[in-house]
Amino acid sequence: MATIKVTSENIFPVIKKFLYSDHEIFLRELISNAVDATQKLKTLSRSGDVKGDLGDMRVRVLLDKKKKTLTVQDHGIGMTAEEVDKYINQIAFSGAEEFVNKYKDQAEAIIGHFGLGFYSAFMVADKVEIFSLSYKDDSKAVHWSCSGDTEVEMEDTIKSERGTDIVLHINKEFEQYLEDATIEGLLKKYCKFLPVEIAFGKKKEWKDGKEVELDEENIINNTAPAWTKKPADLKEEDYKTFYHELYPTLMDEPLFHIHLNVDYPFNLTGILYFPKIKSNLDVHRNKIQLYCNQVFVTDEVENIVPEYLTLLHGVIDSPDIPLNVSRSYLQSDNNVKKISGHITKKVADKLAEMYKTDKADFEKKWDDIKMFIQFGMLTDEKFYEKAVDFALLKNLNGEYYTQKDYIEKIKANQTGKDGNIVVLYTQDKDQNYTYIERAKQKGYDILEMTGELDVHQMSQAEQKQEKLRFVRVDSDVIENIIKKNDNENANDNYTTEQKEGMRKAFEGVLPENSKLNYFVNCEATAEDALPVFLTQNEFMRRMKEMSAHQQGMSFYGQMPDQYNLVINTAHPLIKELMDKMTSETVMEEVKKDASEHSDKENVNEKQEMVEKTVWTLKDQDERLKQLLDIALLASGQLKGEALANFVNRSVSLL
Ligand code: ADP
Repeated sequence: MATIKVTSENIFPVIKKFLYSDHEIFLRELISNAVDATQKLKTLSRSGDVKGDLGDMRVRVLLDKKKKTLTVQDHGIGMTAEEVDKYINQIAFSGAEEFVNKYKDQAEAIIGHFGLGFYSAFMVADKVEIFSLSYKDDSKAVHWSCSGDTEVEMEDTIKSERGTDIVLHINKEFEQYLEDATIEGLLKKYCKFLPVEIAFGKKKEWKDGKEVELDEENIINNTAPAWTKKPADLKEEDYKTFYHELYPTLMDEPLFHIHLNVDYPFNLTGILYFPKIKSNLDVHRNKIQLYCNQVFVTDEVENIVPEYLTLLHGVIDSPDIPLNVSRSYLQSDNNVKKISGHITKKVADKLAEMYKTDKADFEKKWDDIKMFIQFGMLTDEKFYEKAVDFALLKNLNGEYYTQKDYIEKIKANQTGKDGNIVVLYTQDKDQNYTYIERAKQKGYDILEMTGELDVHQMSQAEQKQEKLRFVRVDSDVIENIIKKNDNENANDNYTTEQKEGMRKAFEGVLPENSKLNYFVNCEATAEDALPVFLTQNEFMRRMKEMSAHQQGMSFYGQMPDQYNLVINTAHPLIKELMDKMTSETVMEEVKKDASEHSDKENVNEKQEMVEKTVWTLKDQDERLKQLLDIALLASGQLKGEALANFVNRSVSLL
């Protein structure tokens, strides 16, 4: 009788108890071992160390519901009694007890770290048996059994076929692992692309309304998935077929793919697919699958690869991805970090190449991939540096430009006297129609910025480049947005008092319970601009929009929408109203700070009566309301009752 040489007697309870959440990985562990043993034998055969035909090399998973056993069977290299003793009995690691106590919560990490793969069988089995016959000449078959304590039994046995059977006597609590459907599900999850055929039961077919078993074995996996092949050997069609093999439930076709093939400084293969990413950043998350030598590791790649890469689909396979460790361990693993940095580079290079070789095609795809690229640029500096050369801006004519090219295009005409290059944009070309037309009259170009991340992209561009400003076309009068010279407002002949009078008059007709806040002010804009119009401060509006996506910015999100109501004193209609204003002189009491005066006796303050001219506009409310409504209408804000009132008033005015 041999004993397992672990200093702790308590390794089994730990395995059983703390792996409860993820006990299903036992199957992956055992099948990985079976596949390894099979591959090793194939290698020996190739090198001539093993002679003759290897025969049946399938790995089988067998269920015996009567005996309540699950068996993983392989025809690989097998183990001699000495090897069983060495590899299975002596899981000798120092200070096991101490370690186990310290990392109780991370049992998965313990198992991965110490090659306890095989022992994970005890998570679900009361008793585990090994029947093995080594490929080595004149080997005797060995039978090992253990019932979950530190004592094991080993004896000679009779086994005709080379290889190993691992027999699990499934614990009462885990009888789901004796169900065909459960096992098939797990095999599909973990073993779909293993390099050795995995057989489970027989193929089934529908015949005369009944499901009948065929003679043929049911093979779970595709042993040569697309990513393991050379790109030169694959057609476009093969990549699409593989996409659907990976995601049987996804109906959309991917936009394009990147075949990863790296052997230095680490090994990595894989295929990444670009799905259409239109809106809602979360929809397509968690689709990348990580593999280690074709063994499925996880599809929860958040915090393992950069966040924006989780928007992609596909597989990444690397022998350097540790197989059976906890997620926290995966995240901190240096290889995994290097891998994700490398993927970023590959993805950026591929996109750059696509842009260079076929601009028209890249532009066609742009709207669908733009969210991904913007997300990458905003969250990964390295990606930004590369992507800035192929990230595109689209104008209202449907033309695409890189930022650099766009600046070249507009620089001459859209630079203000302060030296700022002003990029004009709209988020709603119908709502901004009047503003757009006025900007176009000046020969200005306007971008369409309707994407969810566009505001963030603009802010990033402004941060990166001095003297670059993005301004929404309705944020002010176009003459103010791009100020070319100082005397544009020279046609303003009114006094401050007159303008104050006009301001008050309009304030008086503003809707009372309006949720929006309007700041009314007079400005001589241009004769051909609207008499009254709304503008919205670019900075405030954008802060509000950005706060919708970002934490810690809710201060802006809670602010009400604020608009400037501009009374265009250059417009004939306003001029006419100005002419209708009458002035009266009133006496007004004002407080004055005494320190301004030489009067030293009255140190604190002094009340004074002053004469003041006040301008008022009488009996013009209907016209003011009509003008106000036109302003609201022009920016798409006139709705419901106010709109109905406007229509009725217009009719009666006619
Ligand atoms: P790991 O696979 O991480 O080395 P395991 O505990 O799963 O750890 O297995 C320990 C060793 O036992 C393996 O490295 C291998 O040498 C041997 N072994 C396990 N299963 C088999 C098998 N089916 N056939 C041959 N050898 C095996």
